[in-house]
Amino acid sequence: MSLTRQNSPKKLPPHFAQIRSVDVVVVGGGIAGKACALGLAQLGLQTIQIAPDLDELMPAPHGDQWGQRIYAFSPGTQQLLSHLQIWDALDHSRMQAVRDMRIFGDRYEQTDQLHLSAFEAGTPQLAWIGESNVIEHTLDQASRFQNKLDRLTDVVEKLAVDADGTTLHLKSGGSIRALLVVAADGANSPLRSELGISTSQESYSQSAVVANWLCTNVHLETAYQWFLPGGDIVAMLPLPHKQVSMVWSTSPEKATDLLKLDQSGWAQQFFSIANGQIAKQFGSLTINSLPAAFPLRKIRASRFIGPEDNPKVVLIGDAAHVMHPLAGQGLNLGLRDVACLLNILGKRESFRLPNDKVLLRRYERQRQGDTSALLWVTDKLKKLFSASSGAERQLRNWGLGLVNRNHFIKQRLIERALGEVDFE
Ligand SMILES: Cc1cc2nc3c(=O)[nH]c(=O)nc-3n(C[C@H](O)[C@H](O)[C@H](O)COP(=O)(O)OP(=O)(O)OC[C@H]3O[C@@H](n4cnc5c(N)ncnc54)[C@H](O)[C@@H]3O)c2cc1C
Repeated sequence: MSLTRQNSPKKLPPHFAQIRSVDVVVVGGGIAGKACALGLAQLGLQTIQIAPDLDELMPAPHGDQWGQRIYAFSPGTQQLLSHLQIWDALDHSRMQAVRDMRIFGDRYEQTDQLHLSAFEAGTPQLAWIGESNVIEHTLDQASRFQNKLDRLTDVVEKLAVDADGTTLHLKSGGSIRALLVVAADGANSPLRSELGISTSQESYSQSAVVANWLCTNVHLETAYQWFLPGGDIVAMLPLPHKQVSMVWSTSPEKATDLLKLDQSGWAQQFFSIANGQIAKQFGSLTINSLPAAFPLRKIRASRFIGPEDNPKVVLIGDAAHVMHPLAGQGLNLGLRDVACLLNILGKRESFRLPNDKVLLRRYERQRQGDTSALLWVTDKLKKLFSASSGAERQLRNWGLGLVNRNHFIKQRLIERALGEVDFE
């Protein structure tokens, strides 16, 4: 008996799952897992994606209320999604191109700001802002029609790695055999723990409060970020139809207070913070989503492949790294993991299986540099702007102005933010 190609996720009966053996299992149903599973199947690898939340296909977002999870997508992400033939199918009416970024220091002097411009950098846009659901919906649609990909609604409880591959034991009672396992199971990655891969973790003692706003002034296709005295960071990201998406990083206590505010309470906040610049920039702001808060932390896995002596599992996305959202790069970095893995497996020598140690080591080597650099910069920026001494305050504000005047550094910063990937 063979597994019927499924157009909607289902649970395998235990006796059925026990006999299934495939090239790759992707564990996790976030964007990184979905994109990776689709890309691997497109390479011709028989792939199963497993997650507890694959039951429902993500509905297409519609209407005037926008989703809570809004992301900045980099041009590198666009390249990956184009490669997966997803980009053109997205609902572009729900995505906003970002042509400029303006970052303000906490002294509110004219010179304490950094302006990054797509025009100056010779690129059509610096990023897009859109709902997570727009991408997930289109990935779900494409996955339904990919005949090398099956999706299972289940939870991986245990892994047993041997010389040839991995057996995954599922909560439903079944087992699946795979040459390669991709762990895309998020920041708390049970697979990472199961493999004994250690992590360095740090809580930022901050939460990010997110909400969408309708504004009376135009946002000029610009993403704004204000560093506030005391370490809060407020980002206002442009959305279509005179809307902006806010990410306000603050202490957990203040986040709790912000979530309780009514419309007039919010208006007062916008008038009082950042020297009134937010209210001046956007005019009057009307809330257009349920606000939510997410705790912020930094995580870096010590290895991106495992187990140490006989690697058969690769970590991607938040399972490998989690960062502060101030640069809006967490998912983009995870999708660069996906692009890298697809490149390596797509170009592998004909005699190598997808779980060949040489390929997995190549993946780890290539991803470590990019990850370390981005985690380091994001972490240092966060800490520099939280520091309260006069000297550090002087330094950070002066630094913004200095970078702003240096075309070479600005160009390098933009290159990092674009995060371009090569598909050969
Ligand atoms: C406030 C905020 C704003 C952000 N803004 C941006 C932004 O603008 N741009 C950007 O690039 N990034 C941003 N990020 C980061 C981004 O949200 C994450 O990097 C991204 O969502 C991680 O995706 P993922 O697929 O790796 O993991 P997740 O989305 O966490 O998915 C993990 C999946 O694994 C499944 N799973 C877990 N355990 C098991 C198991 N045992 N068996 C099977 N399945 C399992 C889960 O059910 C889930 O489906 C932001 C983050 C925050 C908090």
